[in-house]
Amino acid sequence: MMISFTGPGSTNSAGRSILQAQGVTVADNGAIAGGAQCSRALLYLRQTLLTPEERRRSVLDAMQYAVTVGVTTHLDQGAFQATNTTADGAAHEDNYTMHIPFLEVYDQGKGLIRTRINFLHMESDPNTPELAQRLKNAFPFLGNDMVKTGGIGEFIAAGTNPAPPQNSPFLDAARRVARANWRAEVHSLGRRTTQNPNKPDFEFELDGFLAAEAERPGVVRAQRWVIAHVPGVHQDWLDRLEKIGGNLSLTGWQYLAGGFPSTALDAPYAGPPFRMIVDTSRRPNGIHVGMSSDGMQIAPMNPWLHMYFATTGLNTLGVLINPKQQITRQEVLSLYTRQNGWFLREEDDLGSIEEGKLGDLVVLNSDYFAVPDEDLKKIRSVLTVVGGNVVHDGGVLDLRG
Ligand SMILES: [Zn+2]
Repeated sequence: MMISFTGPGSTNSAGRSILQAQGVTVADNGAIAGGAQCSRALLYLRQTLLTPEERRRSVLDAMQYAVTVGVTTHLDQGAFQATNTTADGAAHEDNYTMHIPFLEVYDQGKGLIRTRINFLHMESDPNTPELAQRLKNAFPFLGNDMVKTGGIGEFIAAGTNPAPPQNSPFLDAARRVARANWRAEVHSLGRRTTQNPNKPDFEFELDGFLAAEAERPGVVRAQRWVIAHVPGVHQDWLDRLEKIGGNLSLTGWQYLAGGFPSTALDAPYAGPPFRMIVDTSRRPNGIHVGMSSDGMQIAPMNPWLHMYFATTGLNTLGVLINPKQQITRQEVLSLYTRQNGWFLREEDDLGSIEEGKLGDLVVLNSDYFAVPDEDLKKIRSVLTVVGGNVVHDGGVLDLRG
């Protein structure tokens, strides 16, 4: 329906006649222009077809896909708050109701993989009243092994992306989250460029973390605060983050989106700088590092594409856009599994196959450590087990006896 945040999209002949009746411009070949036309079509479809049943079916579709690519736990980072107008794009949802179908699926005993839910807040009001009420009235890390809440993220307030405006409520929001002793997660996409020589979002977020530390010393380390994505970070930024116990969640989304950042002033790679970050994480009291994907309209859920990018630096066109920052297969596998458990405060239960941990594992269709680079992208699960239950059987293994 909609590529990325606002289209373009396309439809078949049946959809074309329905959408045209709604005033949407659809080309003879079914193409719908990105922006207003695509948004109008999306709003119509959401208002007519997105019933509770359909939402539950979509949850199961996503889970059924996840188990085929070997994903057994998913951290949901919320959405941009929907307005139920054509201003909404693919990444908009109602943050207050969007998880109800997930909870219903788990209530019905049909949940295949584990879900962890962060609360996203992106207010521009300097008093962040919504965040204030969330911190008073919700419970972090509440739930069971299959589904539970997390912290505030991946935004705590508006105004960091990619360069913060004056009077952003971000610093106050960081202090507020710290006072409540919650975990905070934010994202960073910015870098210094010739168009944007000002302080990029990472440095601004670091200021927010430091403001939180000043008010409540030790909160960043104790509550495991994290900055995600981080394509354009530098060693001195990492050093400053390390000092206060901050942490990073990396993504390989540049595999699809990235070209060489020709306008970069001081980051000669597409990022994230995997090598620099993983090496930094090895120091005593180093930052914790995990790996993630970002929203599915930005990057694929399929972890093997992200792992391909992290280990080769090649984008989908085969162009080396992240030179000298490659990490090993062992390293990225650890980021995606063992290290991620820590970010959920579940390192004693998730992330590695050990006695006493939850029984989550996958059997792959080829040898991850032996296949050529290009074949990394073709890796799939032939058997996925969650909590000791087989949730995906590719029919390859003989499970009798
Ligand atoms: Zn993000």
